[in-house]
Amino acid sequence: MQVNREESVKKVVVLGTGGTIAGRAQSVTDEIGYTAGVVPVADLLAGLSLPAGLVAEHEQVAQTDSKDMTLAIWQRLGQRVAHHLARPEVAGMVITHGTDTLEETAWFLHQVLAPTKPVVLTCAMRPATALMPDGPQNLNDALRVAADGRIGGVVVVCAGRLHAAQDVTKVHTWRLDAFGSGDAGPLGVIEAGELRLFRQSVPGRADPGLWARVQGVRALPRVELVFSHADAQGHLVRSLLAAPGGDIPPLRGLVVAGTGNGTVHTALAEALEEAQAQGVVVWRGTRCALGRPVTSGRSGGDWPLAEPSVIKARLSLALALL
Ligand code: ASP
Repeated sequence: MQVNREESVKKVVVLGTGGTIAGRAQSVTDEIGYTAGVVPVADLLAGLSLPAGLVAEHEQVAQTDSKDMTLAIWQRLGQRVAHHLARPEVAGMVITHGTDTLEETAWFLHQVLAPTKPVVLTCAMRPATALMPDGPQNLNDALRVAADGRIGGVVVVCAGRLHAAQDVTKVHTWRLDAFGSGDAGPLGVIEAGELRLFRQSVPGRADPGLWARVQGVRALPRVELVFSHADAQGHLVRSLLAAPGGDIPPLRGLVVAGTGNGTVHTALAEALEEAQAQGVVVWRGTRCALGRPVTSGRSGGDWPLAEPSVIKARLSLALALL
């Protein structure tokens, strides 16, 4: 049978944003005192040998430590992702990213672009200069997932596991396998370069106007995250409510990470009620690593549920308030 060479080639675009995967240290044994976001994405790809039929293009979108992620970088990244996904010859995309806010960038792209082609974020826990860096394996796996053809939407590849944008969370400070998918578990594993898929991810629901609104602002509506805990008070919430000075935008939303089943200390709940009475939108989630609030948990109002995590819900609320 005649094979159409054009069709048998899978093109994947790799966007570099920085992170430890692009980190450089003074010595090969230094896995902590390095600078993230230094090595160009071109160099990360240069060391890989891609399987036949897989072609990778690359573009440097940012070069940052992801702890310092900004809306401006998200906007640029979203534009480049949208641009490349619209190219019919592009099968999927890979984004190299720091681990610290990777779940937020994945959630951002899932919410605003809700792509059907695969957008695979990947990362590393050791800098590129380490004696045994984990980045090359993760990048290699991510490229194969992006070209696999069985998976779509925003996903994350780290340490041989594939996670959905809605489930993925950084769960460990230094382990190479730093991400988990909570109760849902990973979507699959990458075994010797082959994806073994357990289940499909839930596709995002694109709000047609959202991406345009996100592109048109210089800042997202201000939404802050507060925690309930033993001996909690309302002072923090009340000071957040105080009229901000200078160019600090007014508070628009609050996500409270409740205890256990989303319960909120009575003293904090009173302040949250005051905030709500002043027009601030309050959402309630849990500070527990696993599970979600399953009742109204009322010792702190029947506020809407902050899902899938309080971190991601903070972003969802900011987007909802746009
Ligand atoms: N601080 C780094 C970052 O998020 C950590 C990492 O990539 O592992 O960019």
